[in-house]
Amino acid sequence: MRERTWPLETLKKYLVIPSVSAQGTGIKEACRFLKTLFTSLGLTAKVIDCGGNPICYAELIVNKKLPTILFYNHYDVQPPEPLEKWISPPFKPTVRGGKLFARGSSDNKGNLIARIAAVKSFLDTCPTVRPDEPFGRGHPRQNDSVGLAVRREGEKPPVNVKFVVDGEEEIGSPTLPRFISKYREMIKADMCIWESGGRDEKDNPDLALGCKGICHAELVARGAKDDLHSSKGVIVKNPAWRLIWALNSLKDSNENILIDGFYNRVRKPGSLDRKTIAKFMFYEKEKKKEWGINSFLAGLTGLKLKERFFYEPALNIDGLTSGYQGKGHKTVLPKQASAKIDFRLVPDMTPKDVLNRLRKHLDRYGFSDIEIHDFRGYPPARTPLTSPYVNIISKAQERVYKKPVMVEPLFAASGPMYLFTPLMPCFSLGVGYSGSSIHAPNENIRLTDYWMGIECIKEIMNELAMPAGR
Ligand SMILES: [Zn+2]
Repeated sequence: MRERTWPLETLKKYLVIPSVSAQGTGIKEACRFLKTLFTSLGLTAKVIDCGGNPICYAELIVNKKLPTILFYNHYDVQPPEPLEKWISPPFKPTVRGGKLFARGSSDNKGNLIARIAAVKSFLDTCPTVRPDEPFGRGHPRQNDSVGLAVRREGEKPPVNVKFVVDGEEEIGSPTLPRFISKYREMIKADMCIWESGGRDEKDNPDLALGCKGICHAELVARGAKDDLHSSKGVIVKNPAWRLIWALNSLKDSNENILIDGFYNRVRKPGSLDRKTIAKFMFYEKEKKKEWGINSFLAGLTGLKLKERFFYEPALNIDGLTSGYQGKGHKTVLPKQASAKIDFRLVPDMTPKDVLNRLRKHLDRYGFSDIEIHDFRGYPPARTPLTSPYVNIISKAQERVYKKPVMVEPLFAASGPMYLFTPLMPCFSLGVGYSGSSIHAPNENIRLTDYWMGIECIKEIMNELAMPAGR
């Protein structure tokens, strides 16, 4: 089990760092940790400052003629709150029942260390080296010159590898566009393995070829200059009502988004898309049980439900705030009401177009007093289903997991993949599973998935190196 000590111990050390981008903690520490880790394994690593949280970049160029994989990951994690819901503390990695619990175990630190462990396995060839001492005296990099631990020829990684580790993914990657435009040449690769993914309710591995875009905003309605006695509500505007009426105008009870032209840019699924999602297993019964719901929106099931999940945009209310929400009752006319909303976008929608249409809609329906604040987001991304790498990667996954691969044409969540897909095809897969509780208390991965995830990356690297696989 020695070969398992390093990946687990290294991951635990990484998980201890509370690198919460939303709260600005542990950022420097995480960068330092990663740079030391990459360097200790013999990769060239640097911490690059583009204005926001730095990006950690590392590479190992074995031979320029070999194919190159770029791994995109992020070292930042979501806030751990509510803390009282955690069985063990979020930044104290704990193994229970074959699972490793910690904030970031699945999203996204487990994936990064699994990928690094796969690269390391090609570098570890000397039996005299204790693999559980990555930074210690026995490391092959340190012993090459004295002949104690010489790496055998032909056992270097079979492909070149590059790592981009973002520090702001959980807050929308605001500085990543600057990094990509400045370092476009440096990050050049044949394909990109995206940050995350995992196994479904029946343990089939996923392979996602794109992701939805997202934009979010805060809608604000204002009333009197201060909160008033609620008796004034008979003659003074209540911003909570204004906000509710405005929100009501955006969507009907059949879940149709009513913003004029909202669906104009939605690309309809083609025949290959339809074939792919027909094969995709969407375990409705299990999902309903896990989420504690009786039915899906609009009573959809089967192919229609899958089509909606992958190919339709959404408008969601994340939170509503106004007036008094405390214990007991308070008769008050609030001075302000606000709602946080998000849109999930599908190809070929853009955040800019959505913002324009939202503003026009509010004005047209008599809500020009509703303010739109903090509108931010990014567009969706697609890797074509016809990419030859789909076959290469799914073959490698099938060999490791011995289960059919569930190809998702579009991941229903979002990430800044649109910055990469114009440069190379991107593929999401990883060490998570349907019970990983990402962004929630008790985030975890199953250790078996972790070991298989490492094997899977090794298989993909081997598969890519084969001339027939290119
Ligand atoms: Zn996340």
